[in-house]
Amino acid sequence: MNIMRELLLEWDRTGKNVTALCYYAFTLVAAFFMCVTGAVRAYQFDFAPAAVYFLLCAGCMILFWRVYEDMTVRDTSRLNSYAHCLVVGGFIFGLSALFFLEGGMTGGVPTLFIMAITCTPLFIIDTWEAVIMLVMEVAAYGANIYFAFRYPDAIAKVSIGSAGFLVPLFLVAVILGLICMIFTYAYRHQQIKLDKAITEANAANEAKSTFLDNMSHEIRTPMNSILGMNEMILREEERPEIAEYALSIQRAGRALLGILNDILDFSKIQDNKMEIAPVRYDLSSLLNDMVNIAAEQARKKSLNFEVNVDKGIPRILEGDEYHIKQVVLNILNNAVKFTERGSVSLSITYEKLDEHNILLKCSVSDTGIGIRSEDMDLIFQPFEHVQASRKFQSDGSGLGLTIVKNLLILMDSDLKVESVFQKGSTFSFDLKQPVIKWEAIGDYKRAFSTAAAHSSHYHEAFQAPDAKVLVVDDTDVNLLVFSNLLKKTKIKIDTASSGVEMLQLVRMNHYDMVFLDHRMPGMDGVEAFHNMRSLTDSLNARTPVVALTANAVLGARQFYIDQGFNDYLSKPVDTVRLEQILLEYLPADKIQPADPEDEKKLQARRAKEAEASKAAKAPEAIIAADTVDEADEEPEEPSSTYANIPGIDYDAAVTNCGVEETFVQALQIFYDTLDQKANDIERFEREKDIKNYTVLVHALKSSARLVGALKLSEDAKYLEACGDKNDIAEIEAKTPALLSQYRGYKKVLAEVFGNNDEEDMSLPEIPLDELKEFYVMLRDMAANFDLDNIDGMMEDIKNYRIPADEKERFKKIKDCVTAADWAALDELLK
Ligand code: ADP
Repeated sequence: MNIMRELLLEWDRTGKNVTALCYYAFTLVAAFFMCVTGAVRAYQFDFAPAAVYFLLCAGCMILFWRVYEDMTVRDTSRLNSYAHCLVVGGFIFGLSALFFLEGGMTGGVPTLFIMAITCTPLFIIDTWEAVIMLVMEVAAYGANIYFAFRYPDAIAKVSIGSAGFLVPLFLVAVILGLICMIFTYAYRHQQIKLDKAITEANAANEAKSTFLDNMSHEIRTPMNSILGMNEMILREEERPEIAEYALSIQRAGRALLGILNDILDFSKIQDNKMEIAPVRYDLSSLLNDMVNIAAEQARKKSLNFEVNVDKGIPRILEGDEYHIKQVVLNILNNAVKFTERGSVSLSITYEKLDEHNILLKCSVSDTGIGIRSEDMDLIFQPFEHVQASRKFQSDGSGLGLTIVKNLLILMDSDLKVESVFQKGSTFSFDLKQPVIKWEAIGDYKRAFSTAAAHSSHYHEAFQAPDAKVLVVDDTDVNLLVFSNLLKKTKIKIDTASSGVEMLQLVRMNHYDMVFLDHRMPGMDGVEAFHNMRSLTDSLNARTPVVALTANAVLGARQFYIDQGFNDYLSKPVDTVRLEQILLEYLPADKIQPADPEDEKKLQARRAKEAEASKAAKAPEAIIAADTVDEADEEPEEPSSTYANIPGIDYDAAVTNCGVEETFVQALQIFYDTLDQKANDIERFEREKDIKNYTVLVHALKSSARLVGALKLSEDAKYLEACGDKNDIAEIEAKTPALLSQYRGYKKVLAEVFGNNDEEDMSLPEIPLDELKEFYVMLRDMAANFDLDNIDGMMEDIKNYRIPADEKERFKKIKDCVTAADWAALDELLK
């Protein structure tokens, strides 16, 4: 058995045809048998049957030779032809002759008939051929038997007894057994090969994914330089024609990043790594973003852009907002691209499924070139463009619809296409979406502007001349770009081009923030980060460190957070995000509003930039559209509600925060975190944990100053200095006064914000199962650092009363959210 297996494996390795092996075995055994039988008959002086046996043997030998010749031929059709010849020519006529020469029905030949009939379907792969052969054989052998009964004298009487029956029976058994064995081994062997091929294919796929990730890095790094340098031109160039060129570079660069994102998405889909992350979203803002982008594209091609939104659709839904946006924008983008005249229309309706869900129905129609019915399947093939006419030669990656279709499948939906060539197309899909709030959307534009007015305004222009930041990157041009991006903020910037250099710098200087590139030769960013954190007596023990990387792969953010970094910024650096991060992590007392002249220039640039971005593909364009909306909005009328709070210097607070709205937000956070922070300070003081005590009073110094609690800030500053000197006696003496002053703000601010601890009995109590659902969603969002939606949910839940049993837990959850302590929140929500 093993020898056979080895033989098979060996032959297969040399590329032999396994099917041929079966013929090989068959013909070998048959020829051997015919030869022996022929010899025996010749010995008995029965020359007629001997001659037939030898003839059959010769046929087998010819087949054997042909099979041997064809051993390396993968296609078995030729072998089948040989087998047919043998069966027809040899077996039908040969066995018929033997039937009459070897005793008719009492001899052994009928057994060989059975063997021939059994082997025919086994060897002949083509069904019709097998049927024809079988019919021919059955007819021939049937005719023989009929003839034998009709003319019994035609049968030669032989007296070979039972051997005449048993020998062929034995032979048939051996041949059939051998064939089965060979087939079984061949099958197993194919299976092994298949498994090996699957493993190899998976490995190749892995390699491809790694290659794509690396390629993404390799392309993003130089793109960072190109777009960054271009950003400098846009900022500093006054001549309109040069700014125009720079805008073109920006447009093309962003389009290239769009293609890169498509390729990465496609690779994720192929590797089953694409994740659908449902979050609570506001449909009005989603629509607004999409419509802004598509309307602009349609306007450029002088197309009519119509939007029909059912006013009754619930506004707050749950779904993967990012990917829904990606799907619709892709379809809209195609509709505009493939339409020369007429209109593109987006229509959103809905159907109520049950108490908690709706079916969101989205369709995009155009009056464009349409798609031929024979091309319908082709458009979903990756990298495939259907060339309806040269004018419409697509400049995309050919991946758009493949990604759209697969994303919809992941969201349990499907893309439907109806198209009439030369007339237009309609792409549509239905998406089941859980409803968070049944409040109808109404006029989505108005709904959006109301929501936007309530959402936080990002204050984009600031300066921090006293702040000092370290940027570490092995590419000089990246350092230059980064430094230039921050030029207007007047932040002092040190640069280092390796982990080692960075460690030298952090040993000697204190920084307010460090931006650290991950991939660097020698000591990489993560290693450098851990080395920096493990320095004893470090000047930068508390300095926030932000990972800077071109590795825009899935899970990158979580990776850096897990490593201990404070945040993560992907390259090419998005200036808006960079400024947000700086505002978040730089000490508040070092941030000042920007010079008004600078701000004006910045606004003008942003307007220009938004214009360019709208034309670019999602998702980059989405960011730009957000920026436009904010820039377009009217500045809000300052409110005086906060101007006369005792102990709060309103003017100083607004100056520190830039705008009143930021001040109000900061004050709210100050108020919400007050209890916990005060308790912590008290505890660290009691436990004589001076290191952590100092961290907290340092933070209090900044936050108090920011909200205009200037005396409190000064006192905290004094105690921070005491902490740095380890002056325990002074800390013990002064902390109670600081705490009572700090806690005093609780009462003062309760009047402004309303006492959260006091229950409003007019509110409806939230059902327990809904509260549980709220916890699950909150945990998900916290895991994704989806801060916007967390804020929205915390806002919504204020409309309910918390059940008595859950009050304590809810309070802790709220504190964790306010303190952005996601690890503790995760523990609480487990
Ligand atoms: P790309 O747009 O990059 O070529 P897609 O996958 O988005 O790739 O689209 C594949 C093909 O489907 C397009 O090349 C085009 O031929 C066809 N197609 C897509 N949308 C439309 C449309 N609205 N009208 C006509 N043809 C379309």
